[in-house]
Parts: sequence; C-alpha cells; structure tokens
Amino acid sequence: MTDTDTKETFSFQTEVGQLLDIVAGSLYSNREIFLRELISNASDACDKLRYEALTDPTLTENSEQFAVVLNVDKKAKTLSVSDNGIGMNHSDLLETLGTIARSGTGAFLDALKDKSQGDLGLIGQFGVGFYSAFMVADKVEVLTRKAGEEQSWLWTSDGKGQFTIEPSDRDGCGTTVVLHLKKDAKEFLEDLRVKHIVRTYSDHIGFPVQLAEETLNSASAIWTRPAKDVTEEQYTEFYHHSSHAYDTPWLVMHNQVEGAVNHKSLLFVPSMAPFDLYDNERKSHVKLYVNRVFISDDTKDLIPAYLRFLRGVVDSEDLSLNVSREMLQSDPKLAKIRKALTKKVLSELKKKANKAPEEYATFWENFGAVLKEGLVEDADLQSKLLELCRFSSTDSDSLTSLAGYVERSKEGQDSIYYMTGDDTKKMEQSPHLEGFKAKGVEVLLLSDNVDEFWLQHVTEFEGKSFKSVTRGATDLDKIEGDKSKDDEDDSSETELTDLIAAIKAELGDAVKDVRPSKRLTDSPVCLVADEGDMDVNMERLLKRHGQLTDGTARILELNPTHSILQKLALRANEEQSATDSLLQDAAHLLLDQAKIADGEAPSNPAEFVRRLSAVFDKAL
Ligand code: ADP
Ligand code: MG
Repeated sequence: MTDTDTKETFSFQTEVGQLLDIVAGSLYSNREIFLRELISNASDACDKLRYEALTDPTLTENSEQFAVVLNVDKKAKTLSVSDNGIGMNHSDLLETLGTIARSGTGAFLDALKDKSQGDLGLIGQFGVGFYSAFMVADKVEVLTRKAGEEQSWLWTSDGKGQFTIEPSDRDGCGTTVVLHLKKDAKEFLEDLRVKHIVRTYSDHIGFPVQLAEETLNSASAIWTRPAKDVTEEQYTEFYHHSSHAYDTPWLVMHNQVEGAVNHKSLLFVPSMAPFDLYDNERKSHVKLYVNRVFISDDTKDLIPAYLRFLRGVVDSEDLSLNVSREMLQSDPKLAKIRKALTKKVLSELKKKANKAPEEYATFWENFGAVLKEGLVEDADLQSKLLELCRFSSTDSDSLTSLAGYVERSKEGQDSIYYMTGDDTKKMEQSPHLEGFKAKGVEVLLLSDNVDEFWLQHVTEFEGKSFKSVTRGATDLDKIEGDKSKDDEDDSSETELTDLIAAIKAELGDAVKDVRPSKRLTDSPVCLVADEGDMDVNMERLLKRHGQLTDGTARILELNPTHSILQKLALRANEEQSATDSLLQDAAHLLLDQAKIADGEAPSNPAEFVRRLSAVFDKAL
C-alpha cells in the first residue's frame, strides 16, 4: 500500500532529464505545439475510458459528456487542460510521467545525438508528447483520478530532474494539467492565441475542445465528415495525432463504403518508413473504431501484414460493440471489411503508380519490400500485386515494372530473367550476366531478402516464367539477340571434353558437374545451381541466418571461347595430362575464381595461395 499521507519525491529517468534540458532551454519558435500534445493526450484518455465503459458502464455513470476543457487564469498565470477521461493512478503516473514510454520520443533523442544540440526543429518533427509542456511552463501540475478508483493524485515538477506525487482531491475521474507559464510565454494566456492554436492543430479531435464554454473545434470524428469538407492540413494533423508520426503523409485515402458491411476509413501511407516496419511481429497500426468508439490498434485481422505501413482509422457501425476485442477479431464482417480495404488500397496505389511514377518510386523504396510479402501471403491478389512491383534491371537506371520488362523482351524469349543478391551494383558486374548483356537480354536485379521467397510462389507473369540466371542451363540460343551485338561474336569455341574430364577427376565432390557455358563471354568460369537445386543467393541467406550449414555442390561452367580454357584444353589432350600438376592446380584455381566472382571466399585460402604462386612461378 502506498502511504497516502506523504508527498514522495522521484527522479526522472536519465533520458527524460536530457530531454527536459533540451526542451526547457529552447526558445523554439514552434513551441505552441505543446497544446496540441496535451489535447491529444486528453482525447486519448477519453477514448480509453469510452472503451472501458463498454464492459463496465458504471465507470461513466456519473460523468458528463466527454470533453477537453481549457482554462486560462490570468492572475495565477496558468493555462490548464482538463479531461474527463481514464485518468491515472499512482503507478500509472510513475510509469508514464517519469520515463520515456513512447518510442517516438526515444527516436527523437537518438536523432538528437547525431545532430548538434541546437537543432530544435527536430522537436516539431517528432513531437515529445507530455514533456513539451516544459517548453512554456516552469512548473507543471497534473491532478488526476483514475476511473473506478477513489484516490486522486497530484503530480508536480519544475522539470529540473525531479517530480513529486502526493494524494489529492479531484471531482470525478480524469486529468487536469496545469501549466504555470514562463515569463516569456504569457501569450498563451490570450484567448485569441489559444483559439487559433486549437483550430490550427486540433480541429480533427473527435471530442469538443472548449474554452470558456465555447467549443473551438469541429468535434466530429474527422473520418465521418465528407472528404470535401476536410482540408489537407486537417488530414495531416489528424495523421500526426493518430499515428504518432510527424512526417507529411505520402497518400491519403478517405472512403465511406455502403454495401454488405458499411464502413468508413481514413488511411495514410507515410512518406517515411516507420521504425518498426521490419519488427518480427509485423504489427498493423490502423485503429479500429465501432461507431466512433475506439476498439483496438492491434488490427492484424483488419489489415494484412503486407500493408502494415498503413496508418489511420477504420470505423464500422455494423460491427457489434457488445463483444470483446478477441471476439470481434473473428467476426466474419471484419474479414469482409479487410478484403474491401485491401482491394481499395491496391487500386489506389496502382493509380498513383500510373499517374506519378517518380513519386511511386519513392513509395516503392520505402515499402516495396513489405508489399512483396503479399505475393507469398495473398495468392488471390497476386496478379494485382505483381502489377504494383518495381525492380532494378540491367536495362535502365530507374525502376521497371514487369509489364515494361515484358514489352522490352526479345523475340523468342519466354522467361523473365532475374538475378538475386545483396547489392545490385555488385550484381551488375557478375559473370552470370555476360551472355545476357551480349545478346541485349534484360535481367532484373533483385536485392531484397523477400525476393527469394516470393519467387518460389509466383510462377509467371503474362505467360512468362521467372528464371534465375544463376540456376539451370541457359536457353539463350533460342532468343533473337541484338543484331549488332551478335555480329561481334566471332570467337571460336573449343572442344572441352578432355579438360572437363580432367577437372571433374580433380575436383571430385566439390562440384556437382562441369560443363561448357553459354552464359559467359568474358570471364573464364562461373558457378551455377542445378535446375532443381536451391539458388546460390538463397543458400547464402539461409546460412547467414543459421538455418543451413552445408551448401549444395554447384555446377562449374567453363567458357569455351576463353583463352585460358583453350590453352588448358590443349594440355588436357596430351598423354601425360593425368600427372600434369599445373592442370591439377588450374582446376582448383578455376573453382575458387568462380567463387570469388560471386563474392565468396576460396574454399581453402592457404591452398589457393599456394596454387596461385605455383602457377605464377611457371608463367614467369
Ligand atoms: P503518448 O501520448 O505518445 O503516449 P505522451 O508523452 O504524450 O506520449 O504521454 C505519455 C503517457 O502519459 C500517455 O501514454 C498516457 O499514458 C499518459 N497521459 C498523458 N496525459 C494523459 C491524460 N490526460 N490522461 C491520462 N493519461 C495521460
Ligand atoms: Mg501524447
């Protein structure tokens, strides 16, 4: 039990202390945003209580309509923000107003570490929530009582390292934040100034925000208003409030659907990748409301994981309010809304891709890798998703669509060729691409981890199958290449049968096979995966994640037009070839060379060096 008769003193978490130093010391021109932050918290608190009251109506039995009330006391030089929301008890206060609970604020501090301490524009960019009160106040009091509890508490701090908590009295549940304004912040005692700030930043708040009994905002949930009545700024403010994001949304989608299941949605695609995009949980952050009552922001049943970059709200009056969150998640109506939303979002993205390809490319850089997860997880929409995909390729500096690739493909080409790896710049140099380049056949260069996975699920696009240039035999012969490039190709091919036998004998199990290559023009050798085997890059990925220890043996391909191989072929034809130590060393060196070209290490670096020196020595 807490001793309710004493005032306790606590120290802020170190990070909060740092944050407060920065915030309090700032003469930050945009400091009026403190009001937006406090109103936003008050509105969240009302949302929370409204939800709790669904299961326990006694919580709101005695309270008035939800509202956020502002109060100016010119004499005392205070401005207060009051709500009749959920309130906080002793442990809530300790947990939330003394530590950094919010990852957005943590991100703000990280960003500050990289920059000079004076770069306070960042505060506006991230928002620092409750602590922004100390931009304008030298003392902050929080009088609060949690819904359903008897005891009220007063939290007090001057923002200088410590805060106190003591028992107090408050009528009804909710929270009042009292700001004792700094000398240079008296402007926030002026009604006009306060009204202007509220209208600018908080119009979208769904509860009335009142000053002297006048309601300053529209006080209707923004997503229920007709799209034509909402300005771009209001959308952006709402996005900031509902998503704890501080960028300008890249795309706003506001829809009201009447049909099998009525629903309204206001969805945003951020212009920057959120920090948790690649967390293992792959959480969705879109908020679900039922008839304007906030239900949940853990909405994986509403938004597929591959659209988890979306922010915003979905509201349906057709879902039942009288069921638990868990029950609601299995409501078939929710699945219908999910389907409708997904289709809508994909079609909006397609429109954007057609209308503004450059802007779409930015979107793709941010979220393409996530969207591609849908190719694996949503078989029904696979073809729609493929239309949205963009790729790097050997033929162009900008990204290409699959339709663009197919349009440029050569006569007789029935595959979409691709190569996977870590880095497109390195891939471009790969020996595997030589034959394709010589014929002018375009190859897609795929460097997202997810690429290996969807390629196992997608078999074709517009009748053309996907084919890795590092696996299986090439069928380049069938393709009509660029004339000019074909003509240059007058190098003669050498018969390699004896050499191949000699290399096979020497390398044994280290290779699966040795064969002449059709894909090489300049390099002597390369390694490829056999048709049914795992692609080279996939194997590398699995090894890196510890899911595979031994690799599969690869096929070593030899370039019959390369002078090294032509000379080796001559030696292999000679009688004493079986005891030719140079030929033996060469076999290993060729294999290692192919590995190095793929960015891998020779299988035995010491042996590699010895052989290289031996061959060198003979040549000099
Ligand atoms: P955020 O709103 O992003 O969580 P803040 O710094 O603005 O971060 O607020 C921190 C926490 O303090 C909130 O998450 C909430 O738990 C609590 N809080 C702040 N203001 C209120 C309020 N008016 N009523 C209830 N809880 C509040
Ligand atoms: Mg907040």
